[in-house]
Amino acid sequence: MKASTTKEPTVTPIPFELEKIRADFPMLSQTVNGKPLVYLDNAATSQKPRAVIDRIMRYYTEEYATVRRSIHKLSEKATLAYEGTRKRIAQFLNAPSERNIVYTKGTTEGINLVVHGFGGKFLQAGDEILIGATEHHANIVPWQMLCARNGAKLRVIPCHETGELMLDEYEKLLTDKTKIVSVQYVSNALGTIHPIKQMIALAHAKGIPFLVDGAQAAPHMNVNVQDLDCDWFVFSGHKACGPTGIGVLYGKEDMLNRMDPFLGGGDMIESVTFEKTTYAPIPHKFEAGTPAIADVIGLGAALEYLSGIGMENIAAQEHALLEYGTEVLAAIPGLRIIGTAPTKAAIISFTIRGVHPHDIGTLLDQEGVAIRAGHHCAQPAMQRFCVPATARASFSFYNKKEEIDVLAAAIKKTIEVFT
Ligand SMILES: *Cc1c(COP(=O)(O)O)cnc(C)c1O
Repeated sequence: MKASTTKEPTVTPIPFELEKIRADFPMLSQTVNGKPLVYLDNAATSQKPRAVIDRIMRYYTEEYATVRRSIHKLSEKATLAYEGTRKRIAQFLNAPSERNIVYTKGTTEGINLVVHGFGGKFLQAGDEILIGATEHHANIVPWQMLCARNGAKLRVIPCHETGELMLDEYEKLLTDKTKIVSVQYVSNALGTIHPIKQMIALAHAKGIPFLVDGAQAAPHMNVNVQDLDCDWFVFSGHKACGPTGIGVLYGKEDMLNRMDPFLGGGDMIESVTFEKTTYAPIPHKFEAGTPAIADVIGLGAALEYLSGIGMENIAAQEHALLEYGTEVLAAIPGLRIIGTAPTKAAIISFTIRGVHPHDIGTLLDQEGVAIRAGHHCAQPAMQRFCVPATARASFSFYNKKEEIDVLAAAIKKTIEVFT
């Protein structure tokens, strides 16, 4: 490349004190293979701030008791923290009430709950379920399982070479047979931010309910479920600085009321006799058994932490990292970025001519750089782009520009080794 054509990569001011934020995350000061950890696998799971770790520790060391069942003081306190988190989540998503918030194990369970509780109850043979071409397996497989049970059909909205869904095809696929649309807000494999609000409006114009897989959206941008007008919205705690094993299903009140529970047992009932059981009101109708109390409380601390930084600030910082990362990586000869939509989250999927993605991942690991290499639980999306796998760098607000420089240097080293 001629010097005159090299332009300086974009540098945008950071909207918060980055080093102070980084100090909140104990994992970020770890070393891997003798090198400082450069953690760029945030789309798989995010690191945890001290506030979350300490909150869980405090519950186990000072407040531990179960919720809702016992009347002693500790249980009352645990119940307050547990139900208080529901309020915080409702605020985080701008849901009308905490009654709209169901605790799940994660995005996967949230989708399965809707598949079972709504799809299993209302869909029949010949009905159609519409999903996108770049869905995560969690938004494909449960629907296929339902189709195998009841004879419904899965239809797929195709996508352009950029990773954007074809909206004109989408409109054609919305027919009298379509009974539900279920689409990701943001692609974990390609980073595309889909025009989900517009897609919901198109479905609703035909009276079709819409489920949003928000796993890659809720941790990274302001989400307003009332403004989107989605019928359901799901996300996972562990991708939003919270613990594993806890997630959220938001549902409109009438939808949740119409749905069947997925699991039966304690805590989800109003009264039980051997002849007949009546269910508890929403959201408890969907929460059988002793819940993941510590993880719920930890998720509450995580959302408080994110809100403290501000979702706009998080989105701005991650967008700056995306722009910088895209410029730096696109300049590497032989590197192809897969997913080039104009609106993207901070995810860069790429291949390198002549190097298998797994070899990229392994060599980067030796440099302390953690990325993901594989199909990203989105094999059909990989097939669409005629690649078996990609390497993927995904950024969080706690990442810094210098880490992208380390990534780029490690990629260049990898190319030298292999070509
Ligand atoms: C991670 C992810 C899921 C699955 O989330 P789990 O936490 O594994 O249940 C679903 N959809 C998308 C878009 C994801 O990124």
